[in-house]
This record gives sequence, C-alpha cells and structure tokens, in this order.
Amino acid sequence: MKDRRLLMIPGPIEFEPAVMQAMGAPTTSHIAPNFIEAFGQAIERMREVFLCPDGQPFIVAGSGTLAMDLAGANLIEPGDKALVINTGYFGDRYGNLLARYGAEVTHLRAPIGDRPSLGAVETALAGGGFKLMTVTHVDTSTGVITDVEGLAKLARAHGALCVVDGVCSVAGETLRMTDWGVDLALTASQKAVGTPPGLALVVAGPRAMDAFKARKTPVANYYADWANWLPIMEAYEARSVSYFGTPAVNLVAALNVSLGIILDEGMDSRFARHQLVSKACKAAIKALGLGQVPVSDAVAATTMTAPRFPEGVTKGDLLPRVKAAGVVLAGGLHPEIKSEYFRIGHMGSVSQGDLLAVVGAIETGLAACDYPFDTGAGVAAAMEVFAS
Ligand SMILES: *Cc1c(COP(=O)(O)O)cnc(C)c1O
Repeated sequence: MKDRRLLMIPGPIEFEPAVMQAMGAPTTSHIAPNFIEAFGQAIERMREVFLCPDGQPFIVAGSGTLAMDLAGANLIEPGDKALVINTGYFGDRYGNLLARYGAEVTHLRAPIGDRPSLGAVETALAGGGFKLMTVTHVDTSTGVITDVEGLAKLARAHGALCVVDGVCSVAGETLRMTDWGVDLALTASQKAVGTPPGLALVVAGPRAMDAFKARKTPVANYYADWANWLPIMEAYEARSVSYFGTPAVNLVAALNVSLGIILDEGMDSRFARHQLVSKACKAAIKALGLGQVPVSDAVAATTMTAPRFPEGVTKGDLLPRVKAAGVVLAGGLHPEIKSEYFRIGHMGSVSQGDLLAVVGAIETGLAACDYPFDTGAGVAAAMEVFAS
C-alpha cells in the first residue's frame, strides 16, 4: 500500500499526480520535439508565475542553493558591496556565498523571529555604495516574512539591485516582481512550485541582466555562468535547441505541468488560498497554547508555520507521535533555537483537508505527550477560520 503519510514540511512538499506522471514518463532525447515544446513553454510560464513579463528565466539542474549561486556568481564582481537583509539561516548562507565571489558583505540582522525595520534598511543603504541587496522573502529557519515590496523600493531608490531568495515563497507568498521593482527572484522546484527536487529556478529582470552584461570580469563559476545558459534558454524558448549541459528532461517536463496547474488556478487565487490555510494553521497553534518563532502575525510567513514546543515537550517526544498519526513535520533549523520549535510547511497544493489532518495529528501527538489542552480546540479554531 502507498505510504499515505502526509508530507507537510517546508519542502519537499506533496506533488500533484499529473506532475509525478510527467516524472515517470519515458525519458526522451533533450532534442525531441515534445521536450523542446515543454521546455519552451516552461520558460514562458515562469514569467507569468514570477509576475515578471520582461524577465529572463533560467531553469538549471540543481537545488535552490544553485539558484542563489546563479544570482551571486553572475551579479557580483570582486570588491562589490552587498547588503544582506538577514532573518535567519538562509541570510547567513547568502552572505557566505556572495563573499566567495569577492563581495564585501554587510549583514543587517534583527533578533531571531523578527526582521530589520525599513528605517534600519534605509539607513544602511544610505551609508552607501551597495551594488546589491539580498532579501530572504521567507526564511525557512524562522518562518519570518520580509516586506519585499517596501525593501525593493528602498533598494531601487539607493541604486542597489534587489535580489529575492524566494525559495520558500514563489508561487505561495504574494510576490510581484515587476510591480514591486524586484530585480531578480529565485526558487527551487521542490517548494511552492510543486515539482520534485532538482531544479534551480531564476527570473532575472532587465536591470539584473544589464548588470551582468556590464561585467568587467569573467564569472568565476563555470557551471553557473549565464553566458553559458542564456543561449540555451533563448533557443528553447524559440522552440529550437542548443547544448551546454544535458537538461533534466523529466524534471523540466514535470515543472511545465506544475506551472500549468499553478496558472490555471491563477496567481491571485493561489496567494489567497495560501493566506487562508496559513491563518487557520496559526489560529489552531494559538488555540492549543503554543507560541511561535515569529514575534508577531505581521512578520509570520503564509507558506509555513514555526510553532514552539510547549514546556516539557521535546522534538523527540512530539514529532514521532505526529508521524505515527500520519503527518510528517520538520524539526528546527536555526542553530541558536534548533531544539525549541518545529516547522509545518503548508504550500503548493495544500488543501483545507490537509491542514485539518495536520492539526488533528498534532493534537494526537500532544495528547500522547500528556500535554494538557482542550481536545479539538485546534481543529475547531482552524474550522472557524475556514468557515468565516
Ligand atoms: C530551501 C531553501 C533554500 C535552499 O534550497 P535547497 O534546494 O535546499 O538548496 C534557500 N533559501 C530558502 C529560503 C529556502 O527555504
């Protein structure tokens, strides 16, 4: 029998059957007409999902970290100044990555669970000379969301490129690249985009492409160099072929199916569904008496929830019991608070039924840990949000 456990972590997520069917289809040549069409269509659909009609998509085999690397390798030259808006683990990673390419990196941090204020960012930018600013839209280690619209506006006003790590956000959180002035957004296939792990996805806006074209030094990463990948993306979009590295044929076909499903739902409906499910999840967690890592609702993501363990309950107590009740959740990731919280991913095709199953399994687990609460309080709170 199929392993029926529901996978509700911040990636990989549950995938649509039609996406898995494309994964399992016989692998064709990368120059087969069907594949050329699927790749070309996926490139076109990326612009619609990222809401960036004049952007240049890149679809490259690798994980989300390669997507971060594509931006860093192609936009940073030695000596460039970069500002990292740091809301957790993935901000640290971005700073380390940019430094590898010779950037002079400044981190702007907030206490764990919070985010730097727009005023603090403005002061940092005014201090000057930043070529690029990175923003983690949702830091998966804290569940904190940043105000990308406000931050992108500040970056633009101070002449810095705004690069958004949207690995836990694109196709889940509201993100409007062009309207908000975001210069590059990136994600990975296995999160809200809904395709198995293995694809790095980037859309670079016109200012990012101009900065790449104006480079004085060669890109220090051979595999990531856009000079190698741009002709490939342009060729497939024109429904012809060019070769640099063998594309991940089945993954690209599956991505195209998933992007089609996303666009059929419509971006605004998709954003609204994520908001509703998130609201229900957070209401349930509160009703059960658990705290959360984000310091307020205003800074909490809608693609995931990061509840704190109640006093006397550990990860080893709770998560195996939740799993026995049919739902797989993730432990903590931020090194400083790793043992204090757990993570629920609710992105992609997540439904109201999925969320009720999650809350029910958490209640079952908490009861087995002898944590005192009103049975059904979490499920009731979630149902109330869905009914409203
Ligand atoms: C998951 C994640 C990454 C890294 O993606 P991988 O596919 O694991 O390399 C980067 N940034 C954020 C915000 C993430 O959630």
